[in-house]
Amino acid sequence: MLKNAMQWLTLASVGPEMAAKQFQELRSQVPLLYALLSVNALALGYTHYEASPVWMSLLVPGALAAIGGLRAIAWLRYDPDSFDHAAIIHLLRRTAALGCILSAAYIVWSLRLTVFGGPDERAHVAMFVGITVIGCIFCLSHLPQGAVLVASFTTIPYLLFYLLASGNTVYIAIALNIFLVTLVVMRVLMNGFSAFAKLVQSQSETARLNREVTLLAHTDMLTGLPNRRLFFSDLRQMMAARDAASAPLSLGVIDLDRFKAANDTYGHLVGDQILAQVGARLTEEFAGWGSVARLGGDEFAFILEADGESAIALMTGVCQRLAEPYLTDGVTISIGASCGIATTTGMKLDASTLYERADYALYTSKSSRRGLPTLYSEAHEAAVRSERAVEAALQAADLDRELTIHLQPVVNARTHALSAVEVLARWTSPTLGPISPAVFVPVAERTGIVHRLTVKLFDMALAAAADLPDTTAVCFNLSAHDLTSPGTILSLISALRNSEIAPSRIVFELTETAMLRDFEAAREALGVLSALGAQIAIDDFGTGHASLSYLRELPIGRVKIDRSFVSGEKALERRDLLGAVIAMCRSLGLPCVAEGVETEEQMAFLREAGCDALQGYLIARPMPAAALRDWMKAPRAVAAA
Ligand code: C2E
Ligand code: CA
Ligand code: CA
Repeated sequence: MLKNAMQWLTLASVGPEMAAKQFQELRSQVPLLYALLSVNALALGYTHYEASPVWMSLLVPGALAAIGGLRAIAWLRYDPDSFDHAAIIHLLRRTAALGCILSAAYIVWSLRLTVFGGPDERAHVAMFVGITVIGCIFCLSHLPQGAVLVASFTTIPYLLFYLLASGNTVYIAIALNIFLVTLVVMRVLMNGFSAFAKLVQSQSETARLNREVTLLAHTDMLTGLPNRRLFFSDLRQMMAARDAASAPLSLGVIDLDRFKAANDTYGHLVGDQILAQVGARLTEEFAGWGSVARLGGDEFAFILEADGESAIALMTGVCQRLAEPYLTDGVTISIGASCGIATTTGMKLDASTLYERADYALYTSKSSRRGLPTLYSEAHEAAVRSERAVEAALQAADLDRELTIHLQPVVNARTHALSAVEVLARWTSPTLGPISPAVFVPVAERTGIVHRLTVKLFDMALAAAADLPDTTAVCFNLSAHDLTSPGTILSLISALRNSEIAPSRIVFELTETAMLRDFEAAREALGVLSALGAQIAIDDFGTGHASLSYLRELPIGRVKIDRSFVSGEKALERRDLLGAVIAMCRSLGLPCVAEGVETEEQMAFLREAGCDALQGYLIARPMPAAALRDWMKAPRAVAAA
């Protein structure tokens, strides 16, 4: 009890928010308190001027008023920003203590005055004590400790003085009256103060909740990392605060390789565990270097106060770390990470340009440098510029006039009879000239034109098929985008149904990467197409990362071995591999086609290794349908070989 009272009196358990609020309120009230004390003291001195000695009526109240005035000025000049919690508590304690000392001084002085004056003057003293106490209590309503001490140090001595020393019943009654009124006023003050305390508490609770909500809105729940919103708002702020002389800044975008396949195969729970572990590894790797965030899905990003070379050096290690196996419930999973980095060195860029550059570099990593970081370079800049030109020309293109197809024969490896033709898109822009499909198809995918393009090309392919013998298959390339677009798949199906062409003559060619981009969507789309009777071939086999057994979950009927194994720069070194791939296809009962056959020697090897069909410049280049008709009629030297 006593301990609690002491704790309360010494403000030992007052929290920072409460103390700050009390201080704020007292700053406007304490100067008034000192003003009230000083005026009242001078007034009391004035009424006792005749009756008492000068030091009693002038010097003492003058000194008390001077002390009060100095304190009031000190309070008015306090700068709240320069007070921390400890300083505020110290000041509040000092205010309460000074309250005691001044009250004691005032009461001793005023009781001493009663000796000199007559009944009128004593009445003034009584009134002085009464109104001054009540006034002080009100001014100290935000420091109840001070109010209690001031009230006790004045009303109790005053009451005791009359009870013990005077015997004058009127003044005893007045003193009792003052004492009781003070008690009531104190009670009211305490009620008011506890309402004030509750308000402060609820305000600080609201502020805390607010902070928590903001934090939640800025945090990715799975990894605990900052989320996309926070990342971009930080990035924008950092970029806006920069000038040409600022230290270089590197922005990196990280994308996990093979994560979607792992997620599809093992389920979302395992996928979530992998992402959480990736988050933990990234937090560790970037501790002390820079900030890292999860942008969504399997995409992460970081900001480093470093130049491109340092960022690449750091990220090379981070990519290796991310490629280490992940231990999840029961399964160990290996995935990788690719990264694109863009830096501000010597350039004034805005946040979105910097991000676009990092994203472009990431795209390059994904397509040709998997598992490694790539720095956005001059060459990328040039490529982007020409892609922009292609994009603009494609947006403005009159596809009916500018788009055509070429057909490239695929022949039986043993008999050399024409077994199929591959349909290859050709676009000649009136402004840019002929553009390779390897350039404009990705641009069409990014800009959403690809649906229109694919449907138009497929119509041309069907028209070409109608002019070819029933025994000749027609191979048609689909992009990843086509596969995940139900609208495109439906358009292809209805075009095929409305044609005279037997669906079994159509072979849809798709790369492994396209199939893996969204495995579930691929399974669905390919299921529908093969149910219709069309065939599915894996194009560019050997350049992706999927195992054939995994792809066997899809209705795949053929394999097209990538031309880098047949005629690429490293083709000779990869001969063993080429033989092994052909053997594997045979063992799985999948017919295999070799593309890019350019020399007799390559053809001989392929035939020897057991490849089923051949395609390449040695047999024929891609050509318009009319030229193909002539080619078919002409006796072919190669066919006799
Ligand atoms: P792809 O599907 O691998 O097509 C084969 C590419 O190899 C064609 O290039 C063809 O002209 C070329 N080629 C054929 N024989 C040889 C050879 O002996 N040596 C060499 N070095 N190259 C040979 P093209 O026509 O430039 O097409 C490039 C890529 O563009 C295609 O690769 C395909 O992925 C894509 N593409 C072409 N047409 C279409 C289309 O209609 N739709 C979609 N989505 N993609 C298409
Ligand atoms: Ca192809
Ligand atoms: Ca190919």
